[in-house]
Amino acid sequence: MNRRNFIKTGMLGALMAASPISISALDSATKPSTRPGRLNLRFRPYELKLRHAFNLARSQRTTTPGVQVEIEYDGIVGYGEASMPPYLGESVKSVTNFLSKLDLGQFADPFRIEDIHDYMDSIAPNDRAAKASVDIALHDLTGKIMGQPWYKIWGLNPEKCPNTSFTISYDADPEEMRRKIEETAPFKVVKVKMGVGHDKETVEAFRRHSNTPICVDANQGWTDKEQALDMCHWLAENGCVFVEQPFDKKMFEETAWLRERSPLPIIADEFLQRLPDVRRAADAYDGINIKLMKSTGMHEAYQMAVLARALGMKVMLGCMTETSCATSAASQLAPLADWADLDGNLLIANDIFDGMKVVDGKVTPTDRPGIGIVPC
Ligand code: MG
Repeated sequence: MNRRNFIKTGMLGALMAASPISISALDSATKPSTRPGRLNLRFRPYELKLRHAFNLARSQRTTTPGVQVEIEYDGIVGYGEASMPPYLGESVKSVTNFLSKLDLGQFADPFRIEDIHDYMDSIAPNDRAAKASVDIALHDLTGKIMGQPWYKIWGLNPEKCPNTSFTISYDADPEEMRRKIEETAPFKVVKVKMGVGHDKETVEAFRRHSNTPICVDANQGWTDKEQALDMCHWLAENGCVFVEQPFDKKMFEETAWLRERSPLPIIADEFLQRLPDVRRAADAYDGINIKLMKSTGMHEAYQMAVLARALGMKVMLGCMTETSCATSAASQLAPLADWADLDGNLLIANDIFDGMKVVDGKVTPTDRPGIGIVPC
């Protein structure tokens, strides 16, 4: 990136940090000049507001920091997004700092996605959500150039998309809990967050109102392997389909022990991030939860899903709290997944894209080209 564009991009980032606005309202006067025949990157912070406070095993929050990205090439714009829940260690500052270092203008071909990933990995080893935002925008851009959605480009059958779960978390107020449960009615699987000290109460409260199958995410919240095994048996009797990340990601031996004995599949989430982690996960987990913000985007997520299936593992497709930009990007991969948890866009109050839908409980990518979104 030359100095002039670097300054403009930096000014744009600072301007938007001070006054978050809809991406569709981006004033052309604030855009840096674009170079024909080159990739032009723009980005701005955009805070995601949660419809309900999120109670996790180790935290509670009402917002999630995010960064919206555009890559323009010869008048065609691809959209991308970074979502940074605090436990992953990225922030608006780290993402905008990473994106400011990128000189995508050196690339004249937006289809060189592998080369651009190698370039981004050479800039910094981590910054996975920041890399995902560029990757998603490149897939949106190249899909638009080809005039096809990515599930078609990959040769995937959208009829194989799985049901998606909708997440609820415990609330001490029975009325509020009942209201949360009512919201799950359109879904055929409900994800229950555990490890917050009310594990059985949450399931029992849910079962008083619904027979819908559940899956459980312990978010590393369980600590005792014998108790975890008892809980897996109890959950199996209470309509649970699988258990995600029961223990701290460092408790590898305990997880392998539980996997050998559990009547329910054990799925890795926090344990794994990128492609090289899949093989290690196979020794302690039955499946993996792939999320674009961990995998650096769609390019590596596709490779992870293919490798996991080749290893005989289950594939789950998850998300962070995100707009329809990132969930629609993930929905392109959904035919490769056994289970999906793509409710991130439904959990926020300020979505700025129209994209994937949940139809009869199933992940349903749109047939628009790229990742299938339009700003709204
Ligand atoms: Mg999880």
